[in-house]
Amino acid sequence: GGDSGEKETYTVATDANFKPFEYKDPDSGEMKGFDIDLMKAIADEAGFNVEFKSMQFDGLITGMQSGRYPLAIAGISITEERKESIDFSDPYYDSGLILMVQSDNDEIKSIDDVDGKEVGVKTGTTSEAYLKENTDAKIKAFPQIINAYMDVRNGRVDASLYDKPNVEFYIKESGKDELKTVGETLQGESYGIAMEKGSDLVEPVNEALATLKENGKYDEIYEEYFGKKP
Ligand code: GLN
Repeated sequence: GGDSGEKETYTVATDANFKPFEYKDPDSGEMKGFDIDLMKAIADEAGFNVEFKSMQFDGLITGMQSGRYPLAIAGISITEERKESIDFSDPYYDSGLILMVQSDNDEIKSIDDVDGKEVGVKTGTTSEAYLKENTDAKIKAFPQIINAYMDVRNGRVDASLYDKPNVEFYIKESGKDELKTVGETLQGESYGIAMEKGSDLVEPVNEALATLKENGKYDEIYEEYFGKKP
Protein backbone atom coordinates (compact mmCIF):
# COMPACT_ATOMS: atom_id res chain seq x y z
CA GLY A 1 0.00 0.00 0.00
CA GLY A 2 0.88 3.65 0.33
CA ASP A 3 3.27 4.87 -2.31
CA SER A 4 5.23 1.63 -2.46
CA GLY A 5 3.83 1.10 -5.95
CA GLU A 6 2.41 -2.30 -5.11
CA LYS A 7 -0.71 -3.25 -7.00
CA GLU A 8 -3.98 -4.05 -5.28
CA THR A 9 -5.34 -7.56 -5.83
CA TYR A 10 -9.09 -7.84 -6.27
CA THR A 11 -11.18 -10.99 -6.10
CA VAL A 12 -13.30 -11.47 -9.19
CA ALA A 13 -16.35 -13.68 -8.76
CA THR A 14 -17.22 -15.90 -11.71
CA ASP A 15 -19.04 -19.13 -12.55
CA ALA A 16 -16.68 -21.30 -14.56
CA ASN A 17 -19.51 -23.15 -16.31
CA PHE A 18 -20.21 -20.84 -19.22
CA LYS A 19 -18.28 -21.70 -22.37
CA PRO A 20 -16.58 -19.99 -24.07
CA PHE A 21 -16.67 -17.12 -21.56
CA GLU A 22 -15.39 -18.94 -18.45
CA TYR A 23 -14.58 -22.59 -17.97
CA LYS A 24 -11.94 -24.85 -16.49
CA ASP A 25 -9.47 -26.14 -19.00
CA PRO A 26 -9.79 -29.94 -18.69
CA ASP A 27 -6.03 -30.51 -19.03
CA SER A 28 -4.50 -27.77 -16.90
CA GLY A 29 -7.43 -27.17 -14.54
CA GLU A 30 -6.86 -23.45 -15.14
CA MET A 31 -9.70 -21.02 -15.71
CA LYS A 32 -9.97 -19.93 -19.31
CA GLY A 33 -12.30 -18.02 -21.58
CA PHE A 34 -13.16 -14.73 -23.20
CA ASP A 35 -14.26 -13.10 -19.91
CA ILE A 36 -11.17 -14.33 -18.06
CA ASP A 37 -8.77 -12.94 -20.67
CA LEU A 38 -10.72 -9.69 -20.98
CA MET A 39 -10.77 -9.21 -17.20
CA LYS A 40 -7.01 -9.86 -16.98
CA ALA A 41 -6.36 -7.36 -19.77
CA ILE A 42 -8.56 -4.75 -18.07
CA ALA A 43 -6.75 -5.29 -14.76
CA ASP A 44 -3.38 -4.93 -16.51
CA GLU A 45 -4.49 -1.74 -18.19
CA ALA A 46 -6.04 -0.27 -15.03
CA GLY A 47 -3.10 -1.28 -12.85
CA PHE A 48 -4.44 -3.91 -10.47
CA ASN A 49 -4.20 -7.69 -10.04
CA VAL A 50 -7.09 -10.11 -10.10
CA GLU A 51 -7.74 -13.55 -8.68
CA PHE A 52 -10.80 -15.48 -9.78
CA LYS A 53 -13.21 -17.29 -7.50
CA SER A 54 -15.77 -19.60 -9.10
CA MET A 55 -19.21 -20.08 -7.59
CA GLN A 56 -22.81 -20.88 -8.48
CA PHE A 57 -24.43 -18.13 -10.54
CA ASP A 58 -27.33 -17.30 -8.22
CA GLY A 59 -24.91 -17.06 -5.28
CA LEU A 60 -22.71 -14.80 -7.35
CA ILE A 61 -25.58 -12.39 -7.96
CA THR A 62 -26.55 -12.40 -4.27
CA GLY A 63 -22.90 -11.88 -3.32
CA MET A 64 -22.59 -8.88 -5.61
CA GLN A 65 -25.82 -7.40 -4.26
CA SER A 66 -24.43 -7.50 -0.74
CA GLY A 67 -21.00 -6.21 -1.79
CA ARG A 68 -19.18 -9.44 -0.95
CA TYR A 69 -16.89 -9.23 -4.01
CA PRO A 70 -15.47 -6.08 -5.60
CA LEU A 71 -15.83 -7.45 -9.14
CA ALA A 72 -17.63 -10.19 -11.07
CA ILE A 73 -17.41 -11.31 -14.67
CA ALA A 74 -19.64 -14.20 -15.76
CA GLY A 75 -21.52 -13.23 -18.89
CA ILE A 76 -23.76 -11.26 -16.56
CA SER A 77 -26.57 -9.58 -18.45
CA ILE A 78 -27.12 -5.95 -17.59
CA THR A 79 -30.76 -5.64 -16.47
CA GLU A 80 -32.73 -2.80 -14.91
CA GLU A 81 -33.51 -4.98 -11.91
CA ARG A 82 -29.88 -5.87 -11.24
CA LYS A 83 -28.84 -2.24 -11.75
CA GLU A 84 -30.81 -1.34 -8.65
CA SER A 85 -28.31 -3.18 -6.45
CA ILE A 86 -25.22 -3.72 -8.62
CA ASP A 87 -23.12 -1.33 -10.73
CA PHE A 88 -22.12 -2.44 -14.21
CA SER A 89 -19.32 -1.48 -16.56
CA ASP A 90 -20.17 -0.37 -20.06
CA PRO A 91 -21.45 -3.32 -22.12
CA TYR A 92 -18.66 -5.53 -23.49
CA TYR A 93 -20.57 -8.24 -25.41
CA ASP A 94 -23.99 -8.30 -27.10
CA SER A 95 -25.99 -11.45 -26.51
CA GLY A 96 -29.54 -12.75 -26.24
CA LEU A 97 -31.56 -15.84 -25.39
CA ILE A 98 -32.38 -18.75 -27.68
CA LEU A 99 -34.48 -21.91 -27.38
CA MET A 100 -32.93 -25.32 -27.94
CA VAL A 101 -34.87 -28.54 -28.66
CA GLN A 102 -34.18 -32.02 -30.05
CA SER A 103 -33.62 -31.88 -33.80
CA ASP A 104 -36.69 -33.96 -34.58
CA ASN A 105 -39.00 -31.78 -32.47
CA ASP A 106 -41.52 -30.17 -34.82
CA GLU A 107 -43.91 -29.05 -32.08
CA ILE A 108 -41.82 -26.24 -30.59
CA LYS A 109 -40.96 -23.78 -33.33
CA SER A 110 -40.61 -20.69 -31.20
CA ILE A 111 -41.17 -19.29 -27.71
CA ASP A 112 -44.90 -19.10 -28.54
CA ASP A 113 -45.07 -22.91 -28.32
CA VAL A 114 -43.67 -23.50 -24.82
CA ASP A 115 -46.78 -22.96 -22.69
CA GLY A 116 -47.40 -26.12 -20.69
CA LYS A 117 -44.05 -27.57 -21.82
CA GLU A 118 -41.12 -28.26 -19.54
CA VAL A 119 -38.19 -25.94 -20.16
CA GLY A 120 -34.77 -26.29 -18.51
CA VAL A 121 -32.84 -23.20 -17.41
CA LYS A 122 -30.02 -22.18 -15.10
CA THR A 123 -31.10 -20.91 -11.68
CA GLY A 124 -31.08 -17.16 -11.22
CA THR A 125 -30.42 -16.29 -14.86
CA THR A 126 -32.28 -14.02 -17.25
CA SER A 127 -33.74 -17.10 -19.00
CA GLU A 128 -35.53 -18.15 -15.85
CA ALA A 129 -36.89 -14.61 -15.39
CA TYR A 130 -37.91 -14.41 -19.06
CA LEU A 131 -39.94 -17.62 -18.92
CA LYS A 132 -41.65 -16.58 -15.69
CA GLU A 133 -42.62 -13.18 -17.06
CA ASN A 134 -43.58 -14.10 -20.61
CA THR A 135 -44.76 -17.71 -20.76
CA ASP A 136 -46.71 -20.44 -18.97
CA ALA A 137 -43.90 -22.96 -19.38
CA LYS A 138 -43.11 -25.37 -16.56
CA ILE A 139 -39.69 -24.19 -15.51
CA LYS A 140 -37.05 -26.67 -14.39
CA ALA A 141 -34.10 -24.74 -12.96
CA PHE A 142 -30.64 -26.26 -12.47
CA PRO A 143 -27.54 -24.77 -10.82
CA GLN A 144 -25.60 -25.73 -13.97
CA ILE A 145 -26.95 -25.47 -17.52
CA ILE A 146 -25.30 -28.72 -18.59
CA ASN A 147 -27.98 -30.60 -16.65
CA ALA A 148 -30.73 -28.81 -18.56
CA TYR A 149 -28.98 -29.64 -21.84
CA MET A 150 -28.68 -33.32 -20.82
CA ASP A 151 -32.39 -33.37 -20.02
CA VAL A 152 -33.22 -32.03 -23.49
CA ARG A 153 -31.04 -34.74 -25.02
CA ASN A 154 -32.65 -37.46 -22.90
CA GLY A 155 -36.15 -36.13 -23.50
CA ARG A 156 -36.76 -35.39 -19.82
CA VAL A 157 -37.57 -31.76 -20.68
CA ASP A 158 -38.97 -30.39 -23.93
CA ALA A 159 -36.59 -27.49 -24.40
CA SER A 160 -33.95 -25.30 -22.84
CA LEU A 161 -33.71 -21.52 -22.92
CA TYR A 162 -30.34 -19.88 -22.40
CA ASP A 163 -27.72 -17.45 -23.69
CA LYS A 164 -27.30 -17.93 -27.44
CA PRO A 165 -23.48 -18.06 -27.59
CA ASN A 166 -23.40 -20.86 -24.99
CA VAL A 167 -26.21 -22.83 -26.66
CA GLU A 168 -24.50 -22.59 -30.03
CA PHE A 169 -21.17 -23.57 -28.54
CA TYR A 170 -22.75 -26.62 -26.92
CA ILE A 171 -24.53 -27.76 -30.08
CA LYS A 172 -21.29 -27.45 -32.02
CA GLU A 173 -19.23 -29.17 -29.35
CA SER A 174 -21.40 -32.15 -28.51
CA GLY A 175 -24.95 -32.14 -29.82
CA LYS A 176 -24.44 -31.69 -33.52
CA ASP A 177 -27.34 -33.50 -35.25
CA GLU A 178 -29.24 -34.26 -32.07
CA LEU A 179 -30.07 -30.67 -31.13
CA LYS A 180 -31.16 -27.46 -32.81
CA THR A 181 -32.08 -23.89 -31.95
CA VAL A 182 -35.56 -22.61 -32.86
CA GLY A 183 -37.16 -19.19 -33.18
CA GLU A 184 -35.72 -15.73 -32.96
CA THR A 185 -33.04 -14.55 -30.59
CA LEU A 186 -35.09 -13.29 -27.67
CA GLN A 187 -34.39 -10.21 -25.67
CA GLY A 188 -31.19 -8.47 -26.75
CA GLU A 189 -28.96 -8.52 -23.70
CA SER A 190 -25.50 -7.12 -23.14
CA TYR A 191 -22.94 -8.44 -20.72
CA GLY A 192 -21.29 -6.13 -18.23
CA ILE A 193 -18.68 -6.47 -15.52
CA ALA A 194 -20.46 -6.25 -12.17
CA MET A 195 -19.14 -4.12 -9.34
CA GLU A 196 -20.30 -3.20 -5.89
CA LYS A 197 -22.84 -0.37 -5.91
CA GLY A 198 -20.97 2.94 -5.87
CA SER A 199 -17.60 1.27 -6.53
CA ASP A 200 -14.55 3.42 -7.32
CA LEU A 201 -13.59 0.77 -9.86
CA VAL A 202 -16.35 1.58 -12.36
CA GLU A 203 -14.46 4.46 -13.95
CA PRO A 204 -11.03 2.82 -14.29
CA VAL A 205 -12.65 -0.39 -15.58
CA ASN A 206 -14.59 1.54 -18.23
CA GLU A 207 -11.51 3.51 -19.23
CA ALA A 208 -9.47 0.32 -19.57
CA LEU A 209 -12.24 -1.36 -21.59
CA ALA A 210 -12.40 1.63 -23.96
CA THR A 211 -8.61 1.54 -24.40
CA LEU A 212 -8.66 -2.20 -25.21
CA LYS A 213 -11.38 -1.64 -27.80
CA GLU A 214 -9.31 1.12 -29.39
CA ASN A 215 -5.93 -0.57 -29.41
CA GLY A 216 -7.04 -3.88 -30.91
CA LYS A 217 -6.53 -5.99 -27.78
CA TYR A 218 -10.29 -6.57 -27.37
CA ASP A 219 -10.52 -7.81 -30.98
CA GLU A 220 -7.54 -10.09 -30.44
CA ILE A 221 -9.22 -11.76 -27.44
CA TYR A 222 -12.57 -11.86 -29.28
CA GLU A 223 -11.05 -13.65 -32.27
CA GLU A 224 -9.38 -16.23 -30.08
CA TYR A 225 -12.76 -17.43 -28.80
CA PHE A 226 -15.27 -16.50 -31.52
CA GLY A 227 -13.25 -16.27 -34.72
CA LYS A 228 -13.04 -13.27 -37.01
CA LYS A 229 -15.64 -10.56 -36.50
CA PRO A 230 -18.15 -10.41 -39.35
N1 GLN B 1 -26.47 -13.93 -19.08
C1 GLN B 1 -27.25 -14.70 -18.18
C2 GLN B 1 -27.60 -13.91 -16.95
O1 GLN B 1 -26.98 -12.92 -16.69
C3 GLN B 1 -26.57 -16.02 -17.78
C4 GLN B 1 -25.15 -15.88 -17.33
C5 GLN B 1 -24.51 -17.17 -16.85
O2 GLN B 1 -25.14 -18.22 -16.75
N2 GLN B 1 -23.25 -17.12 -16.54
O3 GLN B 1 -28.49 -14.21 -16.26
